[in-house]
Amino acid sequence: MTSKPKAVHQLTSAQFDKMFPVGNEDACKAYLTARRWPHGVRCPRCGNPAVYDLPSRKWHWQCPKCSDSGYRFSVIAGTIFENTNKPLRDWFKVAHLMLTSKKGMSARQLYRYMGFGSVKTAWMMAHKIRLALVEENTDKLGGIVEVDETYIGGKDKNRHWNKRHHGMTGGDATGKTPVIGAVSRKGNVVARVLHHVNGVNAQAFIREMVSNKVSLLATDASTIYDGLIEYPRMTVDHHRKQYVVGAVHTNTIEGFWLIFKRGVVGTFHKVSAKYLPLYVAEFQFRYNNRFNADIFGTAIGGC
Ligand SMILES: [Zn+2]
Repeated sequence: MTSKPKAVHQLTSAQFDKMFPVGNEDACKAYLTARRWPHGVRCPRCGNPAVYDLPSRKWHWQCPKCSDSGYRFSVIAGTIFENTNKPLRDWFKVAHLMLTSKKGMSARQLYRYMGFGSVKTAWMMAHKIRLALVEENTDKLGGIVEVDETYIGGKDKNRHWNKRHHGMTGGDATGKTPVIGAVSRKGNVVARVLHHVNGVNAQAFIREMVSNKVSLLATDASTIYDGLIEYPRMTVDHHRKQYVVGAVHTNTIEGFWLIFKRGVVGTFHKVSAKYLPLYVAEFQFRYNNRFNADIFGTAIGGC
């Protein structure tokens, strides 16, 4: 067995407070400016780098290209922090809490911790941050890749959350929403909410996300993966209590589902199918940045 690399340390609460002292919005704005525009401020409308500082207003610039009188914009223009009456420091704190908690934080927890006026405020802020955490897929997954699907939610309270539904061809029958995921061992995970699990959808997801040059594609024995003839696919048959055959297993992706379900079930209680993609994005981002010491900065840069 190779030992797993340890997840790196990220900003502690004390470090956060030191970087962003209470009431010091300038510290947050300077940090946001540096993360948002690492190569210098650019116009959020046209991308023009030749913008001018507005002498009368700090953290404001104007772009001469966008209008004759100069389009004026602030450091939060075009970010999730726009049109908000919350200080940037509150946003940063909420993001920090979300990123440092392995299973995520519910709106109710955030509301109590932050002392907001309503749960709804916390809920909206957390959702906007989740939107910012949505990763654009660049490289296809390679190496040894595991693919698996799982089902989230539904009304059947007696059903055990870990119970698998491999015979199912859709989430509708039980009210559960299917999520499919692929993970490169020691690498990244990609997960996506599906309306319906069938061979067409599952195979389209894999062809989009996983290179066919992988050394191994490990799945369970579900027939939905049968058409992937261009992949070196090997299966374990969970129905026959077969879980690990040499390098062939789906333990990594199932570990990801476990964290995700513990978060969604334990922390968020009820997640409607409508918002499930945002929670998937949050858990995927945390997983893919688990070795990133600057996970907070990466998140703020995407806001
Ligand atoms: Zn412009």
